Amino acid sequence: MDLQNYAFLALFLAAMSFFTYNLLRIRSYLMLGRAENRFQNTGARIAKVIGIGIGQSKILRDPAAGLMHAFIFWGFLVLLTAVLEAFIQGFYSDFSISALGAISKIIFALQDLFGLLVVMAVFYALFRRYVLHPKRLKGDGHTNTDATIILLLILGVMVTMLGVNATKGNVHPENIEYYKSHFIAAKLLQPFASNALTYYGIFWWAHIIIILSFMNYLPYSKHFHIVTSLPNVYLSKIGTQTLDTEEINLENENVFLGAGDIEQLTWKEMFDGYACTECGRCTSVCPANLTGKPLSPRKIIMNIRDRVNEKAPFSANKKDIPPEIESRKLVSEHYITDEELWACTSCMACVKECPVNIEHVNPIVDMRRHLVQSESRFPGELTTVFSNMENNGAPWAFPQSERLKWTEGLDFSVPLAANKAEFDVLYWVGCAGSFDARYQNVSRSVAKLLNKAGVDYAVLGTEEKCNGDSARRLGNEFLAQTLIKENIETMKKYKFNKILVSCPHCLQTIGNEYKAFGSNYNVVHHSEFIGNLVTVNKIQLEDSKKTDKKITYHDSCYLGRYNEIYEEPRDLIKKVNSGQLVEMKRSKDKGLCCGAGGGRMWMEEKIGKKVNIERTEEALSLNPDVISTACPFCMTMLTDGVKEKGKSEEVKVKDFAELLLESSK
Ligand code: SF4
Ligand code: SF4
Repeated sequence: MDLQNYAFLALFLAAMSFFTYNLLRIRSYLMLGRAENRFQNTGARIAKVIGIGIGQSKILRDPAAGLMHAFIFWGFLVLLTAVLEAFIQGFYSDFSISALGAISKIIFALQDLFGLLVVMAVFYALFRRYVLHPKRLKGDGHTNTDATIILLLILGVMVTMLGVNATKGNVHPENIEYYKSHFIAAKLLQPFASNALTYYGIFWWAHIIIILSFMNYLPYSKHFHIVTSLPNVYLSKIGTQTLDTEEINLENENVFLGAGDIEQLTWKEMFDGYACTECGRCTSVCPANLTGKPLSPRKIIMNIRDRVNEKAPFSANKKDIPPEIESRKLVSEHYITDEELWACTSCMACVKECPVNIEHVNPIVDMRRHLVQSESRFPGELTTVFSNMENNGAPWAFPQSERLKWTEGLDFSVPLAANKAEFDVLYWVGCAGSFDARYQNVSRSVAKLLNKAGVDYAVLGTEEKCNGDSARRLGNEFLAQTLIKENIETMKKYKFNKILVSCPHCLQTIGNEYKAFGSNYNVVHHSEFIGNLVTVNKIQLEDSKKTDKKITYHDSCYLGRYNEIYEEPRDLIKKVNSGQLVEMKRSKDKGLCCGAGGGRMWMEEKIGKKVNIERTEEALSLNPDVISTACPFCMTMLTDGVKEKGKSEEVKVKDFAELLLESSK
């Protein structure tokens, strides 16, 4: 080893020690959070890292900015080979990747190509930030300074790498055969090649110093996501986005009653803060934000990180927290306000769009739980809703004894589980299907179709209670768990093979969230179930009865983004309609919420434009005859929207079960 190697060794050890210190520091902050297992299903997690992380699939949902970022990311992967080579050369000056033979020629050429592309991408990023000023890069306290430092450091890393590549052939002529692959760097930095011996050393040391500085700047920067984004994708939820559940046992003095500050968040909810790139994709699609509410999902995540950085250094080191810091709780006017939390429709658009799979809805609901269960602080109108759920087993003010009113007018009697004990399909009618005057017609349509197809089914009737979705999303977890457990006990009395639901909220809760309480039902939505009855010819369609309308279909968030059911409803509409099926601009996994999810169905909307009006206007801009839905909440919101726009005569809002019944033999 010569002097240069010793100098490198000292610098390397100092940089790595400081970086490790910072990783351990942040780890100690995360350890303050609640426990959560995010390490099972290794295969599925690796697959996500490959698709979302390496493949950049979510970033590319926004093609222009996405491509720019993807080039920077892929460029970094190729660059790793140059970094590795430079670091090993720090210890062994004569080391070269050219030892790999022909493969090294490809690696060298790719280094130059991606180096150039990253340089171009950095200039585009600076141009976009300082000249184009995209809306989603503004607000929430997001500043240009940190991003600019990072972009300049990336530029420095790339230019010095190209400089090393352009000059190293003269310094190591023994590898010249392989170094000829650096023709891009040689061409770009030709003037330096004439005095290569001098410039090589300058470029090499600058490259090393910039990389090590970059690495140690990251933990203090908002761009720590460069380190955390792939781990965050790995650690993100597998499958549908269920809410975190801990059984509430009021005897337990440590029972989780919600998150008012960072210690009540899970470690993963805190880690999300360190993975946020501040790109604003989440906020740009948030229906609450788009309609002028104070909620920005990006701000929620940034606030969590800022509060962790403010408070955790004291808590993690068991130091007394200064009163002025202790009093600035996470849920307070200093960080996240009640209004922000209540504005969320739990539509999951933010989660779907986030390139690093951050999960915004879980902490939002955890903080709502704090408001409801610890502080008893919630919008006044929810008092009646909670009391209805407690007393009637439904958010509506109707008694449970009226749960079968929807069957009135049918020319057959709907079979009751209590009279059958064993049957193939339990038709879970749901609160809206039982009590909402408009949606009762959908329940009747589904029952008629089941009868036509000769399905062996039954309903629970007066034994059925609200599935608990609204109570959970509104933060009343205790009430939700009471309803969930009662429903599970009721269902245990009967033998059946599957549950048929018309409401996507029932689908999500009973199908995916009851599992945490020990039940494991096969739950299907009527779009799938009835579609299958048509496919197997148990329901036959009459050509002369088919509609000839212009129909647009509104995706329910809980059917679409939560359960990935997009095509089944569309297929059914195409089968019963010989007219056009026209798509709204925001459709399928980019669909805009109707405004009713997350318990917003039961709340007044006093700030900004109404979400249902925003969505209705989008639908009406297509001049449809029918807006089709697959969810009782969407049905209510869009019907109200059409009425408010004065279009009730021309435009009908219909569930596709109704359309199917109209066209069936
Ligand atoms: S779930 Fe929907 S409403 Fe809530 S923050 Fe995300 S995008 Fe906004
Ligand atoms: S939460 Fe995700 S989508 Fe939102 S700003 Fe952060 S990285 Fe971007």
